[in-house]
Amino acid sequence: MSRLWTSSEMEETLFKVAVANRILAEIGLGAGVRASLGHASLRLPSDPTKFVVKGRGYYIDVMSRMRPEDMVVCNMEGEWIDGPPESMQPGEVKMHSCIYNARPDVMSVVHVHPKYTVIMSSLKQTLVPMVQEGAALVLNPLPVYPKAKVVTTEEEGVEVARLLGQHKLIILQGHGAATTGVDLQDSCMAMINLEHQAEMNYYGYLAEGVQHSRIPAENVEAMIRHQSFTQPHFKARTDVTGMPKNTGIWAYYTQLVSEGM
Ligand SMILES: [Zn+2]
Repeated sequence: MSRLWTSSEMEETLFKVAVANRILAEIGLGAGVRASLGHASLRLPSDPTKFVVKGRGYYIDVMSRMRPEDMVVCNMEGEWIDGPPESMQPGEVKMHSCIYNARPDVMSVVHVHPKYTVIMSSLKQTLVPMVQEGAALVLNPLPVYPKAKVVTTEEEGVEVARLLGQHKLIILQGHGAATTGVDLQDSCMAMINLEHQAEMNYYGYLAEGVQHSRIPAENVEAMIRHQSFTQPHFKARTDVTGMPKNTGIWAYYTQLVSEGM
């Protein structure tokens, strides 16, 4: 492999982005007919005008098989800067570059075609909080890009970024979703939790119809405010250990998918 950059930072970024793509597949966000339809990206920490992303042009093109050396580097115009000799940028690279251009605070972007999120968008249903995980993400109506066409042009990318605004994520009606984050864990977990909420919304829709029950907003707000380990019965331990460093499922899935990489 010939790379323009061979720094340890670049190697670490290539690895992290490959792992993130594998985790999205492992979780089920890129399975079956959608196995190759998605990409996670991350800006280079030392040069945020460039980002690493899963590209196209591989013999095996599924997210679950991505290796660090398969990743491509792009600039803020969505142009290919570096990658394997036969590789291309992803077809929807403008979704990444235009969001990065509009949002300097965003370090990572994820786009996949999660099936429950997509079916609920095709049914024109607004996602509402149904379960704990990710409830805050859907507390308020999410922005929707109202076209099913893939996002390929600069104009389309700019429009997605405009509708995203300062939100964390956007629904692409009949197509998928894009999530943002301060790192790959943040953007990927937003997508994972979004799809979990969408699945539970789908069951609620089947059970009770369009106006199905939901977790009331005040209960979600109370859930967001609640901090378990600030309770008095934890104090003796947190004085010693500090607050627990909870990596949730991310550390587990990182280890799982990176075996043998
Ligand atoms: Zn897409």
